[in-house]
Amino acid sequence: MGEQQSALFPTYARYPITIVKGEGSRLWDDNGKEYLDFMSGLAVTSLGHAPKAIKEKLIEQLDQLWHVSNLFHIPNQEKLAALLTANSCLDRAFFCSTGAEANEAAIKIARRYNQKVLGRDRHEIITFHQSFHGRTLATLTATGQDKVKEGFLPLPQGFVYAPYNVIEGLESYIGDKTCAIMLEMIQAEGGVITADPAFVQEVVRLCQKYDLLLIVDEIQTGMGRTGKLFAYEHYGIEPDIITLAKALGSGFPIGAMLGKEKLAEAFSAGSHGSTFGGTPIATATAIATVETIVGEKLSERAAEKGEYLFAKLTEALKGNDFVKEIRGKGLIVGILCAGPVAEQIADIHRNGLLVVSAGPDVIRLLPNLLVSEDEIDRAVETISRVLAAKAQTAV
Ligand SMILES: *Cc1c(COP(=O)(O)O)cnc(C)c1O
Repeated sequence: MGEQQSALFPTYARYPITIVKGEGSRLWDDNGKEYLDFMSGLAVTSLGHAPKAIKEKLIEQLDQLWHVSNLFHIPNQEKLAALLTANSCLDRAFFCSTGAEANEAAIKIARRYNQKVLGRDRHEIITFHQSFHGRTLATLTATGQDKVKEGFLPLPQGFVYAPYNVIEGLESYIGDKTCAIMLEMIQAEGGVITADPAFVQEVVRLCQKYDLLLIVDEIQTGMGRTGKLFAYEHYGIEPDIITLAKALGSGFPIGAMLGKEKLAEAFSAGSHGSTFGGTPIATATAIATVETIVGEKLSERAAEKGEYLFAKLTEALKGNDFVKEIRGKGLIVGILCAGPVAEQIADIHRNGLLVVSAGPDVIRLLPNLLVSEDEIDRAVETISRVLAAKAQTAV
């Protein structure tokens, strides 16, 4: 497809691969070449491709009812909200279709809670350098990376950017208009950078001191990937709001904004909504996904296999001077390299393993949560072979 004239807007630099079929950890392209998938559609297909249990529930629901307006009660939505709140520190859910929309809902409810419930004139949200929160105008503004903002001026107001993992001076970003602090527990697109526990404690302390809402973007880190159902659990904290999407529907588009009970009165009929938010089919896939992840303790499995992957990578890449650091948590792993990794990623793809970058110099691994040790061994072998060739040519 790459060489031909395309009728699509050129919003992606696409790999020269056309995937036509997937099953479990495996994908096939249009030439019949098989790949081991260590990117999972960017942390989406966390139960593998075409997972049977989810497919059965989806087909069942497809036979019953696809879509009904949110002007009616939707039992699947109630059930999914009950499941997500029972397994988190949050009490209420709003459903949408994408991550950016989930963050939009979080931004809107943070403002409205301050302005309508607390009756105070606050709207500013502090976010962090290298963060990623989405592509809508508000969420790209929330994103702490200039490249996503180029050419889109004017941007909405009300976002302030602080350095990530820097405690000193963080308090100085808080003003009399600040209403919330929003962050990722692991900056995924930003290079797989994990929040330091001491930094997170300081964020929580400041939220308490200044009565700010704590919003955690769990769109990439959620649903078991880091070794807990939600990454905030690693820190023993209770955010006021979390946002979900990516793996929530195992590949079916669904997003969610979960919040504490006190936020419920910030929204009323008509203050927010979405035609496709939480349709019967979207919520059927998400219910089956959450039940599978929780029921089969896949978060714990992700922690175990993550440790195995980390140990194998550390061993295989030891002494490779192109590799600077291996980092991450559970099954989100970044290999920080001494230079750009685009060529190495293309080489890894040619060798039948699909991985993705996170920034220019990090190779990101996002296998599904059911990945086997044999698959990890094969992936590590491919990566170390390609990076060994690079280390030899670098000196
Ligand atoms: C992918 C992602 C988003 C945006 O989600 P979309 O579904 O692409 O809108 C927001 N935040 C984080 C952390 C993400 O990884």
